[in-house]
Amino acid sequence: MQVWKFGGTSVGKPERMHSIRTLITADSGRKIVVLSALSGTTNALISMGESAKANNDAEVQEKIDALKAHYDAFIKELYSTEESLKKGQAIVDNEFNFIRSVLKSRPFTLKQDKELVAQGEIMSTQLFQGYLEEQGESSVLLPALDFMRIDTDGEPELETIEALLGDMLDHQTDKQLIITQGFICRNPRGEVDNLKRGGSDYTASLIGGAIRAEEIQIWTDIDGMHNNDPRIVKRTFPIRELTFEEAAELAYFGAKILHPSTITPAKMRGVPVRLKNTMEPQAFGTLIATTTTDREIKAIAAKDGLTAIYIHSTRMLNAYGFLRRVFEIFEKYKTPVDMITTSEVSVSVTIDNDTNLAEITAELSEIADLEEHDRDLSIICIVGDFKADKEGIALKVFEAMKHIPIRMISYGASEHNLSILVWSKDKAEALNVLNERLFYYEDAMKNIFTAQ
Ligand code: ASP
Ligand code: MG
Repeated sequence: MQVWKFGGTSVGKPERMHSIRTLITADSGRKIVVLSALSGTTNALISMGESAKANNDAEVQEKIDALKAHYDAFIKELYSTEESLKKGQAIVDNEFNFIRSVLKSRPFTLKQDKELVAQGEIMSTQLFQGYLEEQGESSVLLPALDFMRIDTDGEPELETIEALLGDMLDHQTDKQLIITQGFICRNPRGEVDNLKRGGSDYTASLIGGAIRAEEIQIWTDIDGMHNNDPRIVKRTFPIRELTFEEAAELAYFGAKILHPSTITPAKMRGVPVRLKNTMEPQAFGTLIATTTTDREIKAIAAKDGLTAIYIHSTRMLNAYGFLRRVFEIFEKYKTPVDMITTSEVSVSVTIDNDTNLAEITAELSEIADLEEHDRDLSIICIVGDFKADKEGIALKVFEAMKHIPIRMISYGASEHNLSILVWSKDKAEALNVLNERLFYYEDAMKNIFTAQ
């Protein structure tokens, strides 16, 4: 069985729901289909909650009316028979009655807020499943609140989810399409809760892990992850395959990819995750799995806005405990360190949040000598399969970058990442020359020689 997840924009218009039906019924495989709320709904619900907290009844009313009008119009285009429109209207009326009553609660607490916010997914799934029924598709709605569980720390309980969901699926052997809500769950007090904003991807990964799915597909509006930044580099292409580790390395760079913790359940159970594009369903997308057969260098990414701090101390020579004291200072000011390089008597680090730079500098100066910081730096990160026995990767990278000044290099922290710190003004050139050298040069060379 596969798990397919569609986000808010994929269900945000009636015609998009129609195309999802086409997509999920195009092959005969049994699927669990995880849906987000219609785009805009979660934000609208949160904003109603804010008005309720502020005791602004008129504003609450206005916001409810606006959202209700949106749903009334939505179902008119979603359904084509009078009968299913009637059912759809009953769903909308019923859920909006609930929304109204929750918003009347005083005091309006976090518990009510979570019940309110859950309505987005509760409505989208009911409306969509109603549409599948109208179209004669074999389907059933499985309420996520019956099997998605989090613990007191808000962390999902995979074993409990596995047991509850497994039991429910055993009773649904005849249905082809099993529809469920992303994002929402119950906490140990039995209350409605959620997996935090954007949590539907997490739901898909948890379900996929729990049932040891064949594959988890995350459907969005982009054709997978690109090998480089298309805004800066002309010739980019979607990456076909990535390992979980490579995907995690890229996540920091704001690449359009799932948050690494989101895919942890899939990774733990070795379930591949495929990113697919609803606009281009034939495209392969990006497959994230335990191993890949793809090229060894997968992608180049960059991050701007870094500051480098250069720390020297002759006390560091053959001493221990010095690095601990350095990092304790960063810890004290809750400042994450991105890149680190060391020599016998120095250590250089980069940070991307310089809010507390003055305080950090003052405290570091008590234990070491500091050189002037450099600002406006960018990390260029090359991600791939760089096992120790692979030769020549560094050569290719530095050959490409021979005209670009380099501030720091980090290689060997993982087998998947080579990071280089450059001035931000050189970033575009670095991305372009690396792109040509790492992804096109060898192919071009091969073509020249085979042509001869
Ligand atoms: N509807 C929720 C949100 O907007 C969850 C999701 O879409 O992933 O955050
Ligand atoms: Mg999302």
